[in-house]
Amino acid sequence: MNPPPLFPAAPQPSRTGKWFWRLPALAITVLVAVITLSTWLGLSQEHEERRAALVSDTLWMEQNLRFHFESTVDQLARIGNEFGIGGELHSEEAQDKVRELLQGDSGLFAILWLNSDGEMLSTLPASAAPVQLSREHPVAVMRARTLNRPAYVRPYKQDDNAWMFEVVLPVFGANDFNGYAVGIFSLSRVIEKHVPWWFAERYRIAFSDDFDNELASTTTSNAVSSNLSFGVSFDQMGGLGIRVEAYRANARVMPSIVVGVLLCFTLILTWSLWALRTRMTRLQETESALRHEHAFRLAMENSTLVGLRASDLEGRTTHVNNAFCRLVGWPAETLVGRAPPMPFWPEGVERQPVSDRVDDEGGAARMFETRYSHRDGTRIDVLIYEAPLFDANGHHTGWMGSVLDITERKRAEALARAQQEQLEATARLVTMGEMASTLAHEINQPLSAIASYSAGCLNALKAGRYDERQFTDILGKINHQAQRAGKIIHRIYGFVRRSESRRERMDVNAAILEATGLLEAESLRRKVRLQIELAMDLIAIHGERVMIEQVIVNLLRNGMDAMRDTPEDRRVLHVHTQTVDGMARLMVEDHGSGIPPEIADRLFDSFFTTKPDGMGMGLKICRSIAEQHSGRLWFEPAPHGGTRFYLQLPVGTPDAD
Ligand code: ADP
Repeated sequence: MNPPPLFPAAPQPSRTGKWFWRLPALAITVLVAVITLSTWLGLSQEHEERRAALVSDTLWMEQNLRFHFESTVDQLARIGNEFGIGGELHSEEAQDKVRELLQGDSGLFAILWLNSDGEMLSTLPASAAPVQLSREHPVAVMRARTLNRPAYVRPYKQDDNAWMFEVVLPVFGANDFNGYAVGIFSLSRVIEKHVPWWFAERYRIAFSDDFDNELASTTTSNAVSSNLSFGVSFDQMGGLGIRVEAYRANARVMPSIVVGVLLCFTLILTWSLWALRTRMTRLQETESALRHEHAFRLAMENSTLVGLRASDLEGRTTHVNNAFCRLVGWPAETLVGRAPPMPFWPEGVERQPVSDRVDDEGGAARMFETRYSHRDGTRIDVLIYEAPLFDANGHHTGWMGSVLDITERKRAEALARAQQEQLEATARLVTMGEMASTLAHEINQPLSAIASYSAGCLNALKAGRYDERQFTDILGKINHQAQRAGKIIHRIYGFVRRSESRRERMDVNAAILEATGLLEAESLRRKVRLQIELAMDLIAIHGERVMIEQVIVNLLRNGMDAMRDTPEDRRVLHVHTQTVDGMARLMVEDHGSGIPPEIADRLFDSFFTTKPDGMGMGLKICRSIAEQHSGRLWFEPAPHGGTRFYLQLPVGTPDAD
């Protein structure tokens, strides 16, 4: 009988969800690792290649410079040996050779000639004189002489901060030792002349001493890679060496672009994955909240005793709850999707058409009572409260009806109504009982008259006196008296007969005349004068005649009771009618004892009476009759003593059924 669930059973999103999100994360991590590793490998391989090239280029450069130094020293030795230190060295030819050496690519700053004692003979070029010599110069001279081969001194700095490198070589002329030739190389000039352009472009080369101090270099630029340098020193050349540093390689553009793009993609992928995950998580949370909400509403719907039925604009049932199924005895599967007529509509009961309009406020709830038929055939009275249904876009899609079983309530109401009627009828009988002796006396009068008239006729017949005119007169009187008695009986019957609860258009004035007619004998007996003042234009109302008469009789009798101790000349009961605010108003005024304030509040209570033989139900019933007619019953003190009771009745409507 349960309506099918709107959502399928919840899967366990947490476990599958974990792996679902971990796999792409893992793939991204691996991708990033692979990119990083391959980039690092590529870079380190390139680094190694550059390092190997640096070493071989440095060794080549070292050989190149060594060769240059040695060949320059050889040329110098040749010039010295060829021309000797004597006078020839000053010859034009020798001078030319020396000049050639100085001006060529030798890198020589100056050439000094010394005699065998090491004393200076000449300096070339003359512009360089006096040449600042190394502090180790004397030692070098001695070493050259002792070893008979060129002696190199440590590089030294001149006053102008230029670094020089000195070589002393012995000069022999015709087998004799002649003196010394001293070559002073300018290290910066050597670099300038002997470092090829391609080398200088790739590397920064510098001369260094044995403490690795930099002496002269191709450039002072520091755009070199700190970890790509290589140094080597010349053998037996006073600790002179070279240090070569590679310039920072221009980053290669393509691989960087590829890596950059890959990293960008990875970042975008990670971000979109993260966004997707956030969105999915939110969706899952929303779905879970919806599930809870649905379960909550389902539980609420199933726990309620009110039947719920939703229908579309054509009246087709779209949803029913358990309570509704129980109410009509049909399962939800039979009802949902079914178009009118419904199986629970009893035959002959007019259906309320499904409204397709919604009022301006969008609410337009409708409430009406109708009857359903249970599957087993029993009739159910229901109260239906229908409210419009809207979809998410605010379109009116149908109606949601709450259906309340009011069968019991209706039964109780009918019972209460029957009991009330019973009570009213009983009260009327009691009133009659109280008036019985008066009424018997009243009926007795015409009956006695009839008896004596008919006895007179009989006597005349027996005596043989037959006077037609006299007989006609007597029979007319008998007829009149019989009609009078019949009228009294008819009134009594009309008053005590059970009401058929039928509301009809009635004249309150006529009801007053009927009631006063009934009380005529009573008022005579009690010596109460009835003063009746009826409005000719009194509005006609819809009401139950017997009930209204009952109220009037009750008010008149209460008035007479109240005037029991009033002097006879003041025992006047004033009955007055008028139309007030479109309603019929009746006033009954007595000149009786009045109503003390202390009992005024309790007058309309059940069984409240101040009379020894009273029942205390009269005013209670009168007020409920007034209320049944949507009217009012109240009282106020009369201006000259006594009380005024008012009954006010609206026009009302006749009974529908
Ligand atoms: P009952 O007539 O049987 O006593 P009612 O309900 O008709 O019952 O009246 C209740 C009480 O209200 C009366 O006992 C009386 O004390 C008081 N009462 C009613 N009508 C009048 C009246 N016109 N003047 C004074 N007292 C009244």
